[in-house]
Amino acid sequence: MGGYASLFYSRRSLAWKLWMDETVRQALPHGAAAMPQRLMTPTTKTRRRHIGAHLPIKDGLHQSLLLASELGCDTVQLFSRNPRGWMAKPLTKDAIDLFRKIRRQTKLSPVLIHTNYLINLAAADEVMLEKSRASFREEVQRAIVLGVDYVVVHPGSAHGSCEADGIETCAHSLKLACQGLEFGQLRVLIENTAGQGECIGHRFEHLRAIMDKCSNLPLGVCIDTAHSFTAGYDIREEDGLEATIESIRRTVGLRNVRAIHFNDSRASYNSRVDRHWHIGEGHIGREALRRFARHPKLAHAAFILETPYDDPRADLKNLERLRSFVDG
Ligand SMILES: [Zn+2]
Ligand SMILES: [Zn+2]
Repeated sequence: MGGYASLFYSRRSLAWKLWMDETVRQALPHGAAAMPQRLMTPTTKTRRRHIGAHLPIKDGLHQSLLLASELGCDTVQLFSRNPRGWMAKPLTKDAIDLFRKIRRQTKLSPVLIHTNYLINLAAADEVMLEKSRASFREEVQRAIVLGVDYVVVHPGSAHGSCEADGIETCAHSLKLACQGLEFGQLRVLIENTAGQGECIGHRFEHLRAIMDKCSNLPLGVCIDTAHSFTAGYDIREEDGLEATIESIRRTVGLRNVRAIHFNDSRASYNSRVDRHWHIGEGHIGREALRRFARHPKLAHAAFILETPYDDPRADLKNLERLRSFVDG
């Protein structure tokens, strides 16, 4: 084992040690000086893919950046608050400054915020819709002050109304919630869904329709491999992958795909069930995911793992697999 492999393995042991030793993690200075991994990044002539994972914030948003850096990620996704509650603690100036400082030091790019799970921008219920719009606006405002690149949101569930109405409501919600905001570099990514329940967004055409209705907003798309697969895009074989990529190109456009949520699926093909699973251990499988990760038409997007968090070693294992797909 030499060259890049040995570097990767030494990074892995460093990350593992830090994860296991909370005292060490707490004591990490807020500086890149203590992080040798950037020096260890191999120099290569080919452009390095942007690979990362959704990582926990623990007791500070900057913690996800530090952890991403220790794991050798180029990019990271995080929640900017509790994802399962309506109320978010306001961001303090210190927290914002620290996040921005660590971001600069770690050079992670892009940085994504995933919105909380309660938001439903397509809700038929008025109270739910109002709360969702307010909460989404708050998410975008937090993303702006933190200076991240993307905020990812699901289109929502049109429970009680038809799909076309759901799409209309979602687009209207996005416009209302974003009114008057200065986006700067920030872009909102609409994520495709598994189509669980009455979720819209399981067809790429839905995402296109939302984008068309919000042409004044800086929108893009996030494609989740597990959602696509259980929504009926069969990416297991080469021709199915090509057909799926062609479908993405025809609808939302490849350059609008800014992020890929790279997950295997515990749920079977076309089941409309959303169950992420470890890379190579689910119904999509290792070879199909390797083909997906290596596809040149998606090379520009950030690849983010959202695999289960059942063991601290799981992220390392899944990152290692994804890295081996694109490098090997
Ligand atoms: Zn998502
Ligand atoms: Zn996802």
